[in-house]
Amino acid sequence: MMQFDTFGLSKTLEKSILKMGFLEPTAVQEQSIPIALKGMDILGSAQTGTGKTGAFSIPLIQKLMRDEAATALVLTPTRELAKQVLEVITGLLYGQNAINLACLIGGEQITKQLKLLRRRPRIIVGTPGRINDHIDRKSLKLNQVKFLVLDETDRMLDMGFGSQVDRILKNVPKERQTLMFSATLPEQIVKLSKKYLTSPQRISIGKSNVVAVNINNEIIKIKKENKYELLLDQLEKREGSILIFVKTKHGTVKMAKNLNNDHFVSEPLNGNLRQSKRDRVMTKFRDKKFKIMVATDIAARGLDVPHIEHVINYDLPQLAEDYIHRLGRTGRASAIGSAVTFISGKELDKWNEIERILNPELKKTDRKNKRSTLKKDKNILSKRKSKRRSKKSNNYNNNGKNDNSHFYKNKRNDKKYKSEGEKDDLSSRKNRFSEKKFNTEKDGDKRSFKKRSTKAKFASKFRPKKKYINKKSVKQKYKK
Ligand code: AMP
Repeated sequence: MMQFDTFGLSKTLEKSILKMGFLEPTAVQEQSIPIALKGMDILGSAQTGTGKTGAFSIPLIQKLMRDEAATALVLTPTRELAKQVLEVITGLLYGQNAINLACLIGGEQITKQLKLLRRRPRIIVGTPGRINDHIDRKSLKLNQVKFLVLDETDRMLDMGFGSQVDRILKNVPKERQTLMFSATLPEQIVKLSKKYLTSPQRISIGKSNVVAVNINNEIIKIKKENKYELLLDQLEKREGSILIFVKTKHGTVKMAKNLNNDHFVSEPLNGNLRQSKRDRVMTKFRDKKFKIMVATDIAARGLDVPHIEHVINYDLPQLAEDYIHRLGRTGRASAIGSAVTFISGKELDKWNEIERILNPELKKTDRKNKRSTLKKDKNILSKRKSKRRSKKSNNYNNNGKNDNSHFYKNKRNDKKYKSEGEKDDLSSRKNRFSEKKFNTEKDGDKRSFKKRSTKAKFASKFRPKKKYINKKSVKQKYKK
């Protein structure tokens, strides 16, 4: 097994790595550190929780120690991730006061950041929006950046930061080293890598579309209205920290409130909260001050809280790829994690999309089979429906014929046949009515019926016949 001392790092850096508890490099570190130390660009895809932050931070610090004029910029999609990266870098810089740091993220006081920037930080970690703010204010100059990291690039694009990143990169010297990490490498990212990177080395750790083997993943299909009950059941069963993912920001607040009412201490985390609140929630969660955090997909990527033991997908993610990232919040650094996903009827399409990502090689025939089983389900449903309808139509149908299969071929036919059924119904009602009439007359008072009928016969016999006048011939007569 490779050791950190084989990379030729400075002794102080080696010490701080050990101090962080990193005894040997992880796979992504083993591959990235030597390449980055050689000064080459990297296009890396690594599963979350693999030690990616160390993979770029260790060579970054080593480089800055060698080149005292150089500065580094690390871009992350979310504020939480930026803080996390800053923490790792701070740990790795233990005992070195020469390198100042600045974290430039939205939602924090700009005056505080301006103060930090006056101290000429050599490592800047931040989110695209706030970095551009500082560029516009001229409080941040990036002309000394020799080391650039784009972390979770696919997420940055998903969050609509593409043009912001572009603007930032226009302010960074072309002569630089760039490490670009992305959980997935869709065509868009490969295209971007051609724009931002120079002859990059490809690094790929594990499959980006695979849920880590150390995560026990359970899927439960359930009616939407029963989800909350099931959640309470699951929470009762589970020990340790839990991260629940819901679809909306508002949903996180509502869910946390409900859970607190049900005596499960929990806090929401979403992008609408003030940054200070977001920080407080994160710190309290890290310090195990409460057990359950209810979050939107803001917490899906990169968030590293090693003690998260369970991830519960109460709602499926908006982006199918986020499913894998969500699950990656547990089972950090090879710990055992567990995940459970609720799927309601309306989410089946989304789930199929996720399954396609998880099993891209899932044969088309399997998918077809799946579809046919769905069809079967539909058939069962429609059979049930038609049973109900046929019961109804039996009432319409005097002939007692039970074959209603033609009734439900399509809506129009349905209507047509239904109206015929109704016609039948009408005629049958008429018949029944006349039968009824006849029966009463017959059974109730035979004589009266006879009497009336002879009377009627008599009346018709002696009723004076109407003379038929041919109007046409009359007209012609008068013309003459
Ligand atoms: P990351 O993928 O960078 O978010 O890291 C995931 C987790 O792995 C973090 O909790 C790190 O502290 C931990 N980690 C990173 N590198 C190592 C290493 N070499 N040895 C042990 N743990 C590590």
